[in-house]
Amino acid sequence: MKAFTFERASSVEAAARAVASNPQAKFIAGGTNLLDLMKLEIEVPTHLVDVNGLGLDKIEATPEGGLRIGALVRNTDLAAHETVRRDYGLLSRALVAGASGQLRNKATTAGNLLQRTRCPYFYDPYQPCNKRQPGSGCSALGGFSRQHAVVGISDACIATHPSDMAIAMRALDATVETVKPDGARRSIAIADFHRLAGETPHIETVLERGEFVTAVLLPPPIGGKQIYRKVRDRASYAFALVSVGAVIHPNGTGRLAVGGVAHKPWRIEAADAELPKGAKAAAQILLADARPTEQNRFKVDLVERTLGAVIAEARG
Ligand code: SF4
Repeated sequence: MKAFTFERASSVEAAARAVASNPQAKFIAGGTNLLDLMKLEIEVPTHLVDVNGLGLDKIEATPEGGLRIGALVRNTDLAAHETVRRDYGLLSRALVAGASGQLRNKATTAGNLLQRTRCPYFYDPYQPCNKRQPGSGCSALGGFSRQHAVVGISDACIATHPSDMAIAMRALDATVETVKPDGARRSIAIADFHRLAGETPHIETVLERGEFVTAVLLPPPIGGKQIYRKVRDRASYAFALVSVGAVIHPNGTGRLAVGGVAHKPWRIEAADAELPKGAKAAAQILLADARPTEQNRFKVDLVERTLGAVIAEARG
């Protein structure tokens, strides 16, 4: 690991300014992804700004009847929170499906959204990877691509976003609250927060340099049966091949988002309208632009089957 300097931020604004003023600086909270990347020298910040002491670890009701989740709320605490379990069961289930107990104890809400892909070539500094080194090529194209994306892909990168939590937040229409280095605040719909790879797979969100995530807001509860189903190679501590997060009402209407298939949490609102017709109709819209590789073609069928299982579970 390369040497770095370290400071504890005294305020949100000071943290944002510290990172904005130094192109080699990064925020650190739980560090569950960043420290791995630093040990491999995939990420080589020369300065870390510790934001753990900023008091952003509260879960509070909003005046609109929703929930405001502080950026530093640990995944374990969020999954176990009484209101989350009762009113946003999809979020609680998605969180528990992710990582391991130890990692969830450390990982934060904002860090979970900002975690980087687990494409194995991204973690191998001896392999070309446009995300790690723009312009160097994509080793997954023509390489091992079983885990990779099938929709929204580009010729530059076919990596997936690894978060389970983000799939639930996408289905629940969350909003990400931020503070910029100049103190300006903004709200970003989760649909717009993560980017597709395009020609710049190294740019993964719409955050500006130094812009700091302070909270995630959930709208008022929408009821329904809330299900998160994750299909993976082993029963725990594995990333999704395919996951489906869904809210389904007794009349068959609802909404869904899919993980393990794209560079961002994948939701096509028009597919929600097809839910009452069944999994095939919804999956056709979700995957209309699918461009799988030979190795991950199975994901196209797996999305439909996983969605079918979710609908069957919702119907009891
Ligand atoms: Fe890198 Fe993306 Fe290709 Fe993986 S899929 S090797 S992250 S460019």
